[in-house]
Amino acid sequence: MKFHITEDGKKLVTLIPGDGIGPECITATQRIIEATGAAVAWETRAAGASVFQQGVPSGVLPETIESIAKTRVVLKGPLETPVGFGEKSANVTLRKLFETYGNIRPVREMPGVATPFTGRRLDLVVVRENVEDLYAGIEHMQTPGVAQCLKLISRKGCEKIVRLAFEFARSEGRTKVHCATKSNIMKQTEGMLKRAFEALAPEYPDIEASHIIIDNCAHQLVKRPEQFDVIVTTNMNGDILSDLTSGLIGGLGFAPSANIGSEVAIFEAVHGSAPKYAGKDVINPTAVLMSGVMMLRHLGEFEAAAKIEHALLVTLEQGILTRDIAGDEKSVGTRAFADAIIGNLGKKSESWRVRDHKPLQMPTFPTAPDVVKARTRRTVGADIFVETSQLPEQLGPALEALAEGAALKLKMISNRGTKVYPSVGAMTDCVDHYRCRFIGRDAASEVTDAQILELTQRIGAQYRWMHIEKLPEFDGEAGYTKAQGED
Ligand code: NAP
Repeated sequence: MKFHITEDGKKLVTLIPGDGIGPECITATQRIIEATGAAVAWETRAAGASVFQQGVPSGVLPETIESIAKTRVVLKGPLETPVGFGEKSANVTLRKLFETYGNIRPVREMPGVATPFTGRRLDLVVVRENVEDLYAGIEHMQTPGVAQCLKLISRKGCEKIVRLAFEFARSEGRTKVHCATKSNIMKQTEGMLKRAFEALAPEYPDIEASHIIIDNCAHQLVKRPEQFDVIVTTNMNGDILSDLTSGLIGGLGFAPSANIGSEVAIFEAVHGSAPKYAGKDVINPTAVLMSGVMMLRHLGEFEAAAKIEHALLVTLEQGILTRDIAGDEKSVGTRAFADAIIGNLGKKSESWRVRDHKPLQMPTFPTAPDVVKARTRRTVGADIFVETSQLPEQLGPALEALAEGAALKLKMISNRGTKVYPSVGAMTDCVDHYRCRFIGRDAASEVTDAQILELTQRIGAQYRWMHIEKLPEFDGEAGYTKAQGED
């Protein structure tokens, strides 16, 4: 990755102070990084609430985007997503604009931070896919009472995140990667990550690779979290799991993150802008500071990074803690906490270790659109989604009559995924949103677009349809799943 080097030989970083407690966390981090003498310079830019208030719907100013495109490295405070201005989160906009496809969220036990897991020396990382899945935010109201969110998962996206997880594990000397998915239920989408993981794992023989179902992963994380080292997972699963893992080690005040892409990396705490604490000098800057430490390693400033991590551990060992851990009486303020860390720079903890880091070998991928080719492919039918207040036993015969003489015939109807026609005796509480599955009458031949459109027109004469999904077959394998109860 290319960095922007200033005239005096420093690596330039775009600094976004952010909203609420953001500026306090960022100032503390900036002061500590500067005190190490690391060769870093800052270019401060705005994003978030102040930008939304200027009427910029994305919450990100063009000069901020220009700066990031130049520096390729960002240290940012949390950004508020104000209700009433703009539609999208400025955080998500930044992550997606710069295709930061991997979100790395490490947690480790910290001295003096008592949790139910104290003494178990937890030290694990969630590597979350950051741009696909349900968080692509492709949502449609299909009827006035039924909403849909598209969960798009690509093979390229899976390969990128899996390779990043293995490479990250190597860079930190970690030896195990778990892939956590819900592939038992979502065989095509979540299954795509599992398949990519199993295909690529043999290329990393030095790392133990295993798959775990996501719900069991959550259970195991609370029961025996020390069994995990790196967990790679899809976007929404990773969002939830990484908040869980933050909870294991003392809360959001200690949870840093890096949004990593092939071109740009954005470092930020997992937590938000906690507006009630803004300007009160009480919050814990550790999460942003540790995000800064991750940034220093990304910049190749390994010595400064280790120096800060040691000084932080020593400070916590000395019992110098912020209010979230020590309460009102025994705590120090954000500024004093940062001062203590600066005072401890150069000291090393006797009993707490800092990992040795090697440069992260960023996986490289072609930038051209990924085209996955099947040797053979054909369309075998179509799911036509229909809005009606009819019951399945009325709708089914009516659709059969409409399809008479057409190239496709009705195979089954499902309601929210469960087959309701022909009846299998399911006790489905139906809503006005039916998936009507039609397949070619001649199983051996391809169903054409014209045949699907002709059928849709017939149905449209009597019913309101809102969505059509072709049923593909790739290399002889069905490219769609069956409804619950469908044979
Ligand atoms: P939040 O800002 O993370 O705060 C939730 C709670 O976590 C706080 O009330 C506080 O708990 C604790 N906390 C968070 N950071 C802390 C710190 N550094 N030190 C000590 N305690 C800390 O979550 P939110 O209140 O749901 O969100 C507020 C705003 O932030 C929203 O506008 C949201 O959209 C935005 N947000 C931004 C990001 C981001 O920029 N990446 C991420 C998440 C949320 P106690 O109340 O128990 O003291």
